[in-house]
Amino acid sequence: MTTKPTILYIEDDAANRNLVDRILTVSGYEVITAATGLRGIDLARSNDPDLILTDINLPDLKGYEIATVLRLEERFLQTPIVALTGIHYSTQREVALAAGINGYLVKPLNTTTLREQIQYYLDGGQDSLDAKRLSEGQARYTREVIRHLERRIREMGELNAELMRLDRMKQTFIQITAHELRTPLTLVYGYVRLLEDFPSLQTVFRQDETVKTLIDGLVESIERMHGVVNEILTISRLMTQDIELNIAQIDLGLLIFRVLKGFTEALQERKMRVKFEQSQFPQSIRADADLLKLAVTNLIGNAIKYTPDGGTVSVVGSVSDGQVKVVVRDTGVGIDIEEQKHIFDQFHTVDDAELHSTSKTAFGGGGLGLGLPIARGIIEAHGGQILVESAGRDIDTLPGSTFTVALPLFSSRSTMSPIGN
Ligand code: ADP
Repeated sequence: MTTKPTILYIEDDAANRNLVDRILTVSGYEVITAATGLRGIDLARSNDPDLILTDINLPDLKGYEIATVLRLEERFLQTPIVALTGIHYSTQREVALAAGINGYLVKPLNTTTLREQIQYYLDGGQDSLDAKRLSEGQARYTREVIRHLERRIREMGELNAELMRLDRMKQTFIQITAHELRTPLTLVYGYVRLLEDFPSLQTVFRQDETVKTLIDGLVESIERMHGVVNEILTISRLMTQDIELNIAQIDLGLLIFRVLKGFTEALQERKMRVKFEQSQFPQSIRADADLLKLAVTNLIGNAIKYTPDGGTVSVVGSVSDGQVKVVVRDTGVGIDIEEQKHIFDQFHTVDDAELHSTSKTAFGGGGLGLGLPIARGIIEAHGGQILVESAGRDIDTLPGSTFTVALPLFSSRSTMSPIGN
């Protein structure tokens, strides 16, 4: 049994594609089709066709550019590549043959002769040009390719500018929305706190526990909402460099101590141990206290969130070569090696965010996926670096994760730099 020759047909016009496909199939060929030049090149590489039939004017590449690309590969040196086109200027034909096309067929198609023509090229047939026209064709081809390239580079430049404009618009939108949400939220929070302390309500609280529980729930939810809005605002400001570092002398050990103190209740509830030696940290570094506190809070918060009850979180410090290292290590679930490349990206969460527990300290209680990008943004804005190490994620063996922050002891205002994504 002889196998049918395979023909790859590259044509963007669907009607033409179907027509030729049908004619060739009826003529006994196996046909695969592509609507763009790049797809055609991919199909050629994956299917090794016996012959490639291509239109000249495709949306991405010209038919003869496809031939040039494929001829660079050893296995396509002998593959017949035939142009099938509506353009019948002799100059186009010269360009096509100069670019490595074997034959040049002009539409409209003659159903009966198409088969014979295809067979001719399959059997090794080749259109020829005299030396003079071939060299003219080559010169014209070079000019055309360069012109095409220039047009494409310009288009890409315009597209890139448009994408950057859209990205700025997105950041502005996020910033305005978060800002607008925060203002009323702050008011609501203030009112609820007033309500909490309202003298006449104290009697009601004593009489009816439920009222107190309701108000507590309200305060907690508003605090959480406030936290989320602030996270969005901070990352957006870091991304657009719309954040001024408020550099001052700070006691790093004390700052970390206070962050850990804020987690006391959660740590007790979750029966977790903390290893921390305040004296390992410098008493005086120059940095933005609020931002640094936020970065450290996010790292320690994550260490707690992603470690099962009974685990240990350690925060170790060391100073050398004008920089301080803060190492936050946990005995938690760990992070997949592949995931480690993405966890500092905005809105990246390993588990489905919809399944997250809303608590900031419960095991597995995730958030928006902004904690680490914010931490990195802050550290980099101080001229520092943040790295992650973990042997992988395993909920049974708990390999743990280690985040290392390296921070210059004396960050200056001028070290503010744009953060990566
Ligand atoms: P999230 O709000 O989801 O915690 P982050 O940006 O803080 O967002 O972290 C991104 C992802 O990185 C998390 O969803 C989590 O899967 C993973 N991750 C961060 N810190 C740890 C850690 N200490 N242990 C295990 N996984 C972590």
